[in-house]
Amino acid sequence: MRVGIVGLPNVGKSTVFNSLTRGGAEAHNYPFTTIDPNPGVAAVPDGRLKALAETIGSRRVVPATVDFVDIAGLVKGASEGEGLGNRFLAHIRECDAIAHVVRCFEDENVVHVAGRVDPVEDIETVNAELVLADLDTVERRIERVSRAAKSGERKPVAEAEALAGLREHLAAGRPARTYPASGPLEEALGTLITAKPVLYVANVDEDSIAGGNAHSAAVERLAAQEGAGVVRISARLEAELAELPGEEAREYLAAVGVESTGFEEFIRAAYRLLGLITFFTANENECRAWPIARGSTARRAAGRVHSDMERGFIAAEVGHWKDVVEAGSWARAREAAKIRLEGRDYVVEDGDVLLIRFNV
Ligand code: GDP
Repeated sequence: MRVGIVGLPNVGKSTVFNSLTRGGAEAHNYPFTTIDPNPGVAAVPDGRLKALAETIGSRRVVPATVDFVDIAGLVKGASEGEGLGNRFLAHIRECDAIAHVVRCFEDENVVHVAGRVDPVEDIETVNAELVLADLDTVERRIERVSRAAKSGERKPVAEAEALAGLREHLAAGRPARTYPASGPLEEALGTLITAKPVLYVANVDEDSIAGGNAHSAAVERLAAQEGAGVVRISARLEAELAELPGEEAREYLAAVGVESTGFEEFIRAAYRLLGLITFFTANENECRAWPIARGSTARRAAGRVHSDMERGFIAAEVGHWKDVVEAGSWARAREAAKIRLEGRDYVVEDGDVLLIRFNV
């Protein structure tokens, strides 16, 4: 599961990516810096994990992670081969969700590709390219499916009819995610970029992180209209803080009037966007947060930890992280009847602590 970071050149994608992953992607003040996408891993901030690890006395603490990819090359005309051409489209298709970074900062030293800061227009430019790319995909699929329909099979006929409606929707400039999904379209929607869930990331200056500015407010309004998620971050502030020792970083944050640069919220929002929830495993050796798709069973969760545990699954002892922390230990939580035994089909909930019993 990975989140693709997209946006026009010079909006701060690489700066965001570097901060998320403290990795090697380079930020430079000119377009087309990053050609091949850089995969990177961000730890999901989770206060529950720390509390649980302290309660259990775990030696090692392992957070859940989200994979991000920095995808450059999106400019006006990209769907027709401008900029880095169509290459970026292939990279976005491989992602499960999209974080769309928009420039909400004014800085005359940083070139804007269209010569002005207007995040709503930027979003429209990017979305138009993505919709055009999808329209192209759907038209090619219609041709293919129509040929198959001539052979007299029923399935391609139903799909061709359904695709015609989707084509109209895209041709009107609307993203596939707002089209009512239907059975015959399931496979086609899986190949479309604008069917992926999206999160808008308003990148503001350090002075605007506390209250936002007119640009970020416009992005928030647009996100609300689309029913999309939105977070406000300051990539510049986050990058500057990374250079400072902990105490000074906290003072700096206090000076600009916030507790965080928005990155923690961003990572958590991306995690939710992927449809992930967290369960924990905890012993003296290691306390760990595991990402799992919402709706997964205990047996599936066991498989996240180890394939042997899934194969030999017997049952899971399950407690809520807060009950365990309040009881002070797993044994005391058990004594207080806060731990229950669940079978393979139990649907795991966010915040569950699992102790899996299995046959080897
Ligand atoms: P990308 O092309 O979208 O990957 O953008 P980069 O991350 O390479 O950033 C382009 C330029 O904008 C760099 O010089 C960054 O330092 C600068 N930049 C990024 N975020 C901010 C910000 O929040 N405020 C200001 N003033 N500059 C920023």
